[in-house]
Amino acid sequence: MIDENIFEKICRRIDTYRTDMIELQKVLTATPAVGPINGGDGEMLKAQRLKKCLIEMGFTTFRHYDALDESVTAGLRPNFLTAIEGKNRTRKIWVITHLDIVPPGELNLWSADPYIAYVKDNHIYGRGTEDNQQDMVASIFAAKAFLDEEITPSQSIGLFFVADEETSGGKGLYHVLDLPEMIFGKDDFIVVPDSGNPEGSLIEIAEKSILWLGFKTRGLQCHGSKPQLGNNAFSAASYLVTKLTKLRKIFDMIDPLFDPPVSTFEPTKKEANVGNINTIPGEDIFYMDCRVLPQYNLQDVIAEINKIAQKVEKKFSVNIEISHQQYVQSTHPTPANAPVVYALQEAIEKIYHLKAHAGGVGAGTVAAYLRKKDYPVAVWSKTNMNAHQPDENCPIDNMLGNAKVFAHLFLQV
Ligand SMILES: [Zn+2]
Repeated sequence: MIDENIFEKICRRIDTYRTDMIELQKVLTATPAVGPINGGDGEMLKAQRLKKCLIEMGFTTFRHYDALDESVTAGLRPNFLTAIEGKNRTRKIWVITHLDIVPPGELNLWSADPYIAYVKDNHIYGRGTEDNQQDMVASIFAAKAFLDEEITPSQSIGLFFVADEETSGGKGLYHVLDLPEMIFGKDDFIVVPDSGNPEGSLIEIAEKSILWLGFKTRGLQCHGSKPQLGNNAFSAASYLVTKLTKLRKIFDMIDPLFDPPVSTFEPTKKEANVGNINTIPGEDIFYMDCRVLPQYNLQDVIAEINKIAQKVEKKFSVNIEISHQQYVQSTHPTPANAPVVYALQEAIEKIYHLKAHAGGVGAGTVAAYLRKKDYPVAVWSKTNMNAHQPDENCPIDNMLGNAKVFAHLFLQV
């Protein structure tokens, strides 16, 4: 139940923010925030610029939970929140978004500079414009509408901006959740708008486990004309890639909550080996991205992978070293009847005129850490899901529409 008159007022106010939202997107995009694991210098500058913008908009309450990190110039990875007190002070509605972005990748695949956001056909383009700035901006302006209209929201509002999401390095929400201070309440509604679908009809309540592995195969380098004097690491690794497809058969459970409904095991990144054609490579490195249904234990997956690798080691007389680049065992889902799911369904129906359903996804979000700590959390966004791609972009209407969904949540009693 919400006061429709007040909600109409807030929505009209949000509609006036179109240009301001684009401006904030431009400021945020111009400040690359790549984590050190991805070769960047962290999120501090972006966090500082964002905070300055928030102060100019009228936000007054801030709390900081930075994490120490010597691998970035600032020595810290920023995590901070801003809040607006509502009529109901016992429950807070949280929207958590992440500051970091992934690197642009191959620059020649982009139509323009990834760090200079621009508008074309009602979309805003640039690295980070969708992931996660679309909803960062939406949540900020949803809250700002209450400040500008001088309306006290029904529920207290918490906007949390975290570091280190893209590489799950423990300096973001992980760090925050491990602090002794209880920042989130068990009755709070927590929304992580970092995944969804183009219709806005998917409320994500479960995630697959994530396992990223590196495979370093060592043979013996030699001249291309005398392969008998060496041991081709590339050949052995290629054989290994084909053998790893067996995982799909071993872990073949189907869970219709997810799309796709199966565990996936995909070879992805490949490191360059020798610089010339007439050298037999003595070393080969490739990576695999596994998204495993929560019914499986990742330890069992790793055991099977080790078995496969050992057979290849024997057959080719090579050494295969497997490194864990990312390991997130998913936990029990948020219940489909959790109050935050109902609240979102009501808001989505009001703004987008559709019935959203609860489901699972393969993408990892910070929600996994929250679920681990038993906070009911819903991941939702109306998003075209082109994060991490060249020419990343978001429809400006998504920013406005999602802002209204968040505002609706803030007004629900
Ligand atoms: Zn994201």
